[in-house]
Amino acid sequence: MPELPEVETTMRALAARLRGRRILRFERRVDRLREPLPADLERKVNGRHMVDFARRAKYIIIHLDQPESLLLHLGMSGRLLFDGPSGGRHEHLTFHCEGGTVLRFVDPRRFGLLLLARREALDRHPRLAGLGIEPLSPAFDGALLHRRFAGRRCDVKAALLDQRLVAGIGNIYACEALFRAGISPRRRAGDLGPRRCARLARAIVTVLEEAIAAGGSSLRDYVGADGRLGNFQNDFRVYGREGEPCPRCGRPVRRIVQAGRSTFFCNRCQR
Ligand SMILES: [Zn+2]
Repeated sequence: MPELPEVETTMRALAARLRGRRILRFERRVDRLREPLPADLERKVNGRHMVDFARRAKYIIIHLDQPESLLLHLGMSGRLLFDGPSGGRHEHLTFHCEGGTVLRFVDPRRFGLLLLARREALDRHPRLAGLGIEPLSPAFDGALLHRRFAGRRCDVKAALLDQRLVAGIGNIYACEALFRAGISPRRRAGDLGPRRCARLARAIVTVLEEAIAAGGSSLRDYVGADGRLGNFQNDFRVYGREGEPCPRCGRPVRRIVQAGRSTFFCNRCQR
């Protein structure tokens, strides 16, 4: 499932290619993805310029030269692909754009979302209003994390996955950030002191920035919009590496299941 770095990479690719361009024709082959598509999508979108692109958590936001913006979520398996051959029966949405670019939304599992939302009220949109802080925003630091974690009885791994606390972090980057910070995923979030929180906040920012610089991670369900593959998966230190040596101490990386998700960590380096 795409996480913040993959969505950010996709959004930047879209912006580089399509900012300022017009959507000549929007085509749908289904009436719903995870939710019904807005009935008046074609009327709102056709002929409009895409004036700017943004990201909030795992949502890509396409601002149009009209009061409503497009809100796109890739879900579990959604991909945005430029040009190339058709995505076959899983290509549900197609944007024919000015300049000959064709943008295809391909989503075998149909957990993606495409919504219209008023730009001036985006922060209050039900999908966005409850989201936590952006970890790459200037306000994100250890002190803030410490305040958000205060009183939380869940383990720190679960707290990082809670989108109401910090937005955009999924299983991969939670595991990688905890390893880099040297913090056990089983520690209770509310028990983390200011120094551990500061270490964790720095690790989160570092791992996300490195992943974005690498073009995200290519996993079975994700490729970049321009068909290039991100390669951050080669830099995973613990994620998906059960039994392989910890890059710091050489002991085998362990896997446990927390809240139904695999957690990879080093029992010795993470305390
Ligand atoms: Zn280790």
